[in-house]
Amino acid sequence: MHSREGMGKTLATLREAAAGCRACDLYKRGTQTVFGEGRLHAKVMLVGEQPGHEEDLAGRPFVGPAGKLLDRALAAAGIDRGDVYVTNVVKHFKWEPRGKRRIHAKPNQTEIAACLPWLQAELDVVKPEAVVCLGATAAQALLGSRFRVTKERGQWVKAPWAERVLATVHPSAVLRAPDDEARHREFDLFVADLARVRTALAA
Ligand code: SF4
Repeated sequence: MHSREGMGKTLATLREAAAGCRACDLYKRGTQTVFGEGRLHAKVMLVGEQPGHEEDLAGRPFVGPAGKLLDRALAAAGIDRGDVYVTNVVKHFKWEPRGKRRIHAKPNQTEIAACLPWLQAELDVVKPEAVVCLGATAAQALLGSRFRVTKERGQWVKAPWAERVLATVHPSAVLRAPDDEARHREFDLFVADLARVRTALAA
């Protein structure tokens, strides 16, 4: 068992090592490695797909529009963002140019496989009681390529590396809803999934 100080050092060491990662070509495209962050003994680890434009510039996960929506959803579900650890399956921003903008591009299987050891190391150190996969990339990377968020969202499943795993949508999917009504509906469903996490951990 690591001491709290030892765990801190381990996370810091991991972060430092990941900053120089060249295990796939995405380091050439992103500004920097965006490692996870949060409490050392976080009960909940939230795992997204990859950093976006703002995360890439800030070097921190979930600080852009999707991160702000995630903050609101966590608050609505009664979970303090300060009590969770947030990270992504892939630690560099993959993007394609569109005019002057950098548009999100989906990471491929090779990039996901190359980056997965960082997430496994984060899981080993933080040892969360519950892992929440935000979107299909995280769910399939952690639960297998046959996992379908559309069919199995909001349900607890077991995994060797966490007692409880639950998949839901990525907050960017809520933002992409076609109109206000759909966005409110998707937000409420997202909050309901997160509320199941809070309830399970309080039990
Ligand atoms: S995306 Fe992951 S595996 Fe690829 S270079 Fe960045 S940190 Fe390394």
